[in-house]
Amino acid sequence: MATSIQKLSLFQVATMTIPPLTVPAVCYLVQTDDGKNILIDSGIPENIKRTPSGSVPTLGKSVVEQLALLGLRPEDIHVLVCTHFDVDHAGNHAAFPNAELVVQKKHYEHALPSQNPRFALTRAQWTYPGARYRFVEGDVEFVPGLELIATDGHCLGHQSVLIRLPESGPILLAIDAVASANSFTPEHQASPVDEDEEQLKASTRKLLAVAQREQVQLVVFGHDLSQWQELKKAPEYYR
Ligand SMILES: [Zn+2]
Repeated sequence: MATSIQKLSLFQVATMTIPPLTVPAVCYLVQTDDGKNILIDSGIPENIKRTPSGSVPTLGKSVVEQLALLGLRPEDIHVLVCTHFDVDHAGNHAAFPNAELVVQKKHYEHALPSQNPRFALTRAQWTYPGARYRFVEGDVEFVPGLELIATDGHCLGHQSVLIRLPESGPILLAIDAVASANSFTPEHQASPVDEDEEQLKASTRKLLAVAQREQVQLVVFGHDLSQWQELKKAPEYYR
């Protein structure tokens, strides 16, 4: 029997504040009917007082603590999808000893040079000894029902994720390609945390087209507090 996706859980791991704005920092768990646990991002590291973009994080329950509430240990995570290595997304990758890290090759190569300060804070989380990687290039169906979608712009090699659920239908995790609902337009303007406005616009148009073509039922934006308040969070889940 082919694998299929069974559950999508949403975790808030921190709140980030740049007055007057407060946004959630989040990650996701996808579970398949054959017992695979796929984590998407891993939250903020514990020791960060201020992110490179100037926001001050207030940590909530960590991803490891939230997984424990669902009965999962770090060893139970088989795959860790790395959307990108910013500090609010890649803060705890090294906590998952059995996870294969799935990242766009282009992003890894972009983040790796030590002179790239943007990803310095998480470096130890994705260059630890024994890290196992699966590099992907472009749009890829990683497992049936989970597609990685290349969305440059926020940073080179950023990826979004489309998940097909048996009851909820297709759900698109835009991550930071589109951080809030009001940016989900063809004229998406870059913010200071985005590397390339033209790429960001192109990626936003690509996701708009995906949402239409795939009849996406829900687009989860990367950091949208008012949307987040309306979503189901763990221990509730989408199925
Ligand atoms: Zn982010």
